[in-house]
Amino acid sequence: MDLTFSAAEEAFRADLRSWLAESVPAAWREPGFWAGVPDDEAFGLRREWERRKFDAGFAGIDWPTEYGGRGGTPGMKAIYDEELALVRAPATVNPLGLAFLAPTIMAVGTDEQKREVIRPLLRCDVIWCQGFSEPDAGSDLAALRTSGVADGDDIVVNGQKVWTTNASHGDRIFTMVRTEPGSQRHRGLSMLLLDMHQAGVEVRPLRQMSGATEFGEVFFTDARVPARECLGGLGNGWATAMLLLSFERGASGISQYTAFRQTYDEIVRAARALGRDTDPVLRQELGRRLAELECLRYHAMHVLTQVERGADLGAESSMTKLQWSETYQDLFETFDDLLGADAAVSTPVAGLDLSALQSEGFWSRSVTIWGGSSQVQRNIVAERVLGLPR
Ligand SMILES: Cc1cc2nc3c(=O)[nH]c(=O)nc-3n(C[C@H](O)[C@H](O)[C@H](O)COP(=O)(O)OP(=O)(O)OC[C@H]3O[C@@H](n4cnc5c(N)ncnc54)[C@H](O)[C@@H]3O)c2cc1C
Repeated sequence: MDLTFSAAEEAFRADLRSWLAESVPAAWREPGFWAGVPDDEAFGLRREWERRKFDAGFAGIDWPTEYGGRGGTPGMKAIYDEELALVRAPATVNPLGLAFLAPTIMAVGTDEQKREVIRPLLRCDVIWCQGFSEPDAGSDLAALRTSGVADGDDIVVNGQKVWTTNASHGDRIFTMVRTEPGSQRHRGLSMLLLDMHQAGVEVRPLRQMSGATEFGEVFFTDARVPARECLGGLGNGWATAMLLLSFERGASGISQYTAFRQTYDEIVRAARALGRDTDPVLRQELGRRLAELECLRYHAMHVLTQVERGADLGAESSMTKLQWSETYQDLFETFDDLLGADAAVSTPVAGLDLSALQSEGFWSRSVTIWGGSSQVQRNIVAERVLGLPR
């Protein structure tokens, strides 16, 4: 495992750091800032931020230059994630497109798809949604029922998706449908790149416990998609989806470490402000969280080293997903222990602004579900990494 970055990578860090110092508004760095901005306004600010990064050459760091990227190393991408987390730059508005769809298109897309999809996605001119889950097909994706029937040069789509992140702001959706009528399980599926701005697509927002409506239900009624907009080949959707999910679960973990470490420091500050920092039980718990965070950092560096050596992580990416999601959730278990019953109150302590931590705490409940639940990740690790019997 290599714990250092090259001189060229450190030079990139210095450039990026000075650009961020003059580009990230001071207000954004306040821990409570984003919690106080209404959803749509926040989305607009974050979208504009992505465009500024693209125009300044700080987008697609490890993507080939032909796609509008910078052609950098995985190390530069890790530094980029780390530096953005350090200045509290907002998370991207196009996570599903950037992290999962784009690498899948680079791997199995047609020339036309590469040309038409990747650059607008990188600049966030087109926001992508992921339409995999259905009411009875979440962990068991092969149970999906949304149908796609050929009609001339088009495929006509009918069915329902659920838990679609960014549904209300989405321009296009990469979605899994059954294109061979009567096919079973993972056979006869296709992944389609569908325009959400058409009469046959209806989005109904779902409200989360934080109050936000970050995701929604998507209904297709005779929605149309040209057959050339099928990704990875008609009837080959399962293989395309598995490739895409390996990108979803394999994110390096360095930026998570940096962001979670800031959250940890805020929880420690809150413990001090509440006079709980001398409580021996809480101190022990905080010590355990710090140890878990450091394990996450070392695991992230291990993954980065493997990736730089060209290793294909495959099913091992489930270990990364498990580790970062559970570490993050544990942090907020400790936050809840710090506040006790007050954790459920909107202003738990007079004079102490804990709104950002509370809102993150609500969010943290979801991270062991999306991208494949912890139970499902453990099954994958047991069967495909450790070779245990089914
Ligand atoms: C915040 C959030 C955002 C999301 N965004 C998207 C999105 O953009 N696009 C999208 O397509 N989906 C999205 N999802 C859906 C997500 O992928 C599913 O919720 C997830 O795959 C779990 O499926 P499910 O909710 O149907 O639960 P179920 O599959 O019904 O599972 C219920 C419980 O049973 C357990 N379980 C199920 N099968 C097994 C098994 N074989 N072995 C052991 N335990 C099992 C699960 O771990 C879980 O605890 C999102 C979900 C959340 C919470």
